[in-house]
Amino acid sequence: MARIGFIGLGNMGGPMAANLVRAGHAVAGYDLSAAALEALAAGGGTAAASAAEAAKGAEIVITMLPAGQHVRDVWLHQGGLIEIAKATGALLIDCSTIDVDSARVVAAAAEAAGLAMLDAPVSGGTTGALAGTLTFMVGGSEDAFARGLPILHAMGRNIFHAGGPGAGQAVKICNNMMLSINMVGVAEGFILAQKLGLDWGKLHEICSTATANSWALSSYCPAPGPVPAAPSNRDYAPGFMAALMLKDAKLAQEAAEATGAPTPLAAQALSLYQAVVDAGDGARDFSVVFRWLSQQKR
Ligand code: NAD
Repeated sequence: MARIGFIGLGNMGGPMAANLVRAGHAVAGYDLSAAALEALAAGGGTAAASAAEAAKGAEIVITMLPAGQHVRDVWLHQGGLIEIAKATGALLIDCSTIDVDSARVVAAAAEAAGLAMLDAPVSGGTTGALAGTLTFMVGGSEDAFARGLPILHAMGRNIFHAGGPGAGQAVKICNNMMLSINMVGVAEGFILAQKLGLDWGKLHEICSTATANSWALSSYCPAPGPVPAAPSNRDYAPGFMAALMLKDAKLAQEAAEATGAPTPLAAQALSLYQAVVDAGDGARDFSVVFRWLSQQKR
């Protein structure tokens, strides 16, 4: 069993760290939130006073932070985390969803210190994090991937090696760009169905076995009712916050601009999530786009 430092114990990191504890690992965690630290300790982990303290003596150091700036900050500018990891030759794993450049900058700094690093963003949401059934899309060397695999298996079910440094983030950005569009598509379908006098339960039952099916429709229906576990049934409590989806939609557009990829629907979806955030719903689940759209006029 490994000694693991875990930094960022939020909606995703909290349950992921708890699953590592459950798998028998010794987990020292750090978060800016005292409540998150208490939850880790209640689950059998150790609350650390800083990121550096969490990483001290660890064989694996994992980060699960909101965005690229936090990841760069924690790894490069706060308390010399890479220096601390060097003492144990730790494997570094960043599970946050961030821009490819930040992932490569941090991986290069790790490599310069003789350390291996994986970018390992996840898919599956908070339900997947709680159940330990996340999908990991991993960038980094073959050797580092092999070292990280048993640890990632304690938090996820499907673990994919996407390619070299940054490749995990590249896959994740494409995945979330598609999801951002899917969710708006499902929302529009359910709004039109209501106007046509259809029952949402029937629409869900039929379309989730027809060609419109998607994860957004079958597992995360944005209209309340058909999927009891979906955030739509708890006033859109996250889940995956609209502000984070907006962040990912922006990452995708930046990547599309940099590479010349035509992504008109994703650009339109971004503007809708921006409107949701501007309306004050950034901290609600991104499926709240359904409720926002329901309140608009054609
Ligand atoms: P969150 O905001 O719930 O958690 C982030 C945590 O990081 C917070 O608890 C915050 O206090 C902590 N933090 C921020 N700066 C810190 C620092 N300097 N030191 C220590 N802790 C710090 O977000 P989340 O939903 O857990 O998402 C985390 C990452 O996972 C994001 O990149 C997100 O895009 C990605 N993601 C989220 C989901 C989801 O469904 N929530 C799904 C897939 C991927």
